[in-house]
Amino acid sequence: MKILVINCGSSSIKYQLLEMTDAENYKLLAKGNLEKISLPDSKLTHKPAGKDAFVLMQPVPDHTLGMKLVLDTLTDKNYGVIGSFDEIDAVGHRIVQGADFFDGSCLIDESVMEKIAICCDFAPLHNPAHILGIRAMQKVLPKVPQVVVFDTAFHQTMEPKAFMYALPYEYYEKYRIRRYGAHGTSHYYVSRRGAKKAGLDINNSKIITCHIGNGSSVTAILNGKSIDTSMGFTPLEGMIMGTRCGTIDANIVPYIMKKEGLTPDEMTDLMNKKSGFIGLQKKSSDMRDMVCFSEQGDKRAQLVRDMVVHHITKLVGGYIAEMNGVDLLIFTAGIAENNPWLPLAVCKHFEYMGLKMDVEATNAARDESIISAPDSSVKVAMIPTNEELMIAIDTMNIVNGLK
Ligand code: ADP
Repeated sequence: MKILVINCGSSSIKYQLLEMTDAENYKLLAKGNLEKISLPDSKLTHKPAGKDAFVLMQPVPDHTLGMKLVLDTLTDKNYGVIGSFDEIDAVGHRIVQGADFFDGSCLIDESVMEKIAICCDFAPLHNPAHILGIRAMQKVLPKVPQVVVFDTAFHQTMEPKAFMYALPYEYYEKYRIRRYGAHGTSHYYVSRRGAKKAGLDINNSKIITCHIGNGSSVTAILNGKSIDTSMGFTPLEGMIMGTRCGTIDANIVPYIMKKEGLTPDEMTDLMNKKSGFIGLQKKSSDMRDMVCFSEQGDKRAQLVRDMVVHHITKLVGGYIAEMNGVDLLIFTAGIAENNPWLPLAVCKHFEYMGLKMDVEATNAARDESIISAPDSSVKVAMIPTNEELMIAIDTMNIVNGLK
């Protein structure tokens, strides 16, 4: 079964075409990214598996023409990987925000589209783009089943004590203000892969997953279900990130707005795009640069690294207490997968409970690996995330009537 996975942004379409035999056996046929839709210098980078990348520069005025270009490239005589559109059995769309409407993936119909549209209020940068992408795909492939997979769905198992904010209750009722979390597809995927790797029964386990990338969140997973997560009403809450401040004292917000004369939109921009690593260090929002600069003696870059470790440590410690223990701690996503010093630094704080790391295994970990020592009281794993694969698996199961 060939499944096209789409992750649509306001000016970009990221895609992967996977050939799925089952959840364990699959082949990536091609992946790519179409950037700068609606600008004169739109750019498509298409990478067929095992071949060189192909780059096409050509103005792409809208998402419908963008989807058409992606499909034309997938079927291109020279760079394509399939003979015709008919070979695509289903399309899976990543959706950032499903609020409390969706606790799992589902086939798209008009009532689903209406709910995704209501959720635009909570994810104004993402959901409108997802809708554009779905509509475009419906036009280009009208007969192919389409599935939506939500970043928020996995966290719908949280209890009110974890998802409520202590604001006047009417704002929860009127505006649905509550914690929704994010990165759910990743937390779900790595918790299952990690449990398997560690020989744990997911239905009888205490797992903490640390998704540390440009956006970062930490989740407590009890018996396979998310019971708490660090991102909140939006993906701004929680720990320090590349350009986001994470949790701050809420009174700082009106204080800065008054002092600097900022509008609500300007303040939102400041917290989401001008804070975090770039706000503190000023030159970069990328962890590779933080490592490089701090090794050259840059104190702010070192501060960023120290804060990342500090924030993860506080979240993990809190979640261990919440679950009254932990069997497995998992590190995933761009920063955690490529910076062995990070799990080593975080896990030092849990030596008191008998957690011992295998430094050599941690430094060598490239693929799914157990990175704790054999006699550690808690297992620690590095599991590369694969959100596109998870979307393809969900899409396959729904289209096959298995979910
Ligand atoms: P997102 O999916 O949220 O955009 P990623 O999970 O790709 O983010 O993570 C991006 C982060 O991962 C960046 O801060 C980057 O520096 C870091 N990263 C990616 N690859 C490496 C690497 N090889 N070495 C060190 N850091 C890396």
